[in-house]
Amino acid sequence: MAPALSIVVPVYNEEESLEELHAQIARALDACGRTAEVVYVDDHSRDKSLAVLLKLRESDPRIRVIRFTRNFGQTAAMGAGFDYARGRVVVTLDADLQNDPADIPRLLEELDKGYDVVAGWRRSRQDGFLLRRLPSLIANRLIAWVTGTGIHDTGCTLKAFRRQVVKNLPIYAEQHRFLPAMSRQSGARVSEIVVNHRPRIHGQSKYGIERALRVFLDLFAIKMIAQFAHRPLHYFGLFSLPFAAISLVALVFGVWDYRHGRIEAEWPDFVVLVVGLFLSLAFYFILLGLLSELAVSAAGMHRRRVLDRVLSDSE
Ligand code: UDP
Ligand code: MG
Repeated sequence: MAPALSIVVPVYNEEESLEELHAQIARALDACGRTAEVVYVDDHSRDKSLAVLLKLRESDPRIRVIRFTRNFGQTAAMGAGFDYARGRVVVTLDADLQNDPADIPRLLEELDKGYDVVAGWRRSRQDGFLLRRLPSLIANRLIAWVTGTGIHDTGCTLKAFRRQVVKNLPIYAEQHRFLPAMSRQSGARVSEIVVNHRPRIHGQSKYGIERALRVFLDLFAIKMIAQFAHRPLHYFGLFSLPFAAISLVALVFGVWDYRHGRIEAEWPDFVVLVVGLFLSLAFYFILLGLLSELAVSAAGMHRRRVLDRVLSDSE
């Protein structure tokens, strides 16, 4: 029978943390009193993480282990965990002991109040200020502003989701941190609670400051796709407007000058060139918009977004 709860943990070179982590997760699950599975996704670790996980699995049948054929990154690991998860509720957390499994029962309580996503907020985050907390603060403000999802800490992996939210969201690149924003776009109710955060004791962080640029580009991609998927023709129509306006103005001026006999020898050629060029640019964008409408409807994107909403209301 399917468990009520799936814990999804992305793992990359965390051999020293895993035993302690699983002991803490097991304690938290006892406190929840729900049937559960723990899906560890080994993102092709080069240390002994896989061996440690397989050993842990011998003593705890709730453990499931997925192993990637190469290092695909944290987002892909979480995505695979979502695909394999069978629980009605999915909780994600880091493998490095920075997130505290003891927070899981409180996340579930908050979810039970009628939310689809509950995000952890690392209010007293135990990472360096200049390279970690400051960029994260700026990124969070920017994400909140651009996506309209007003939570404080979208980068915290400790989160709880209703199954249908994560099953329907396509995530790739570094987009796991945008899950609250993306789910809100498809109608999910999002909340947050303050969670415990601990310094990393074993191993090293897998990210440096270059992550900031990737987060920024992903934000751009998500915003584009969200608006784009909704109504591509409107979007491209906007692009074509200035071009259409320029050609119209050129046409009016051309006709006006012609009527008043103020035409010089090369003037008509110039007007025809400007009108022709900008008009074809306007048409070009409209055509791109029409093609995109076709792509979006062929992919069933409109329907899928509505379906998310219906499901989240009925379960
Ligand atoms: N991780 C992963 N694949 C990667 C990089 C990281 O599965 O390519 C996992 C890592 O093992 C950890 C989580 O993602 O469980 C977060 O990584 P990390 O702790 O390095 O990030 P930070 O806490 O420094 O933001
Ligand atoms: Mg960490």
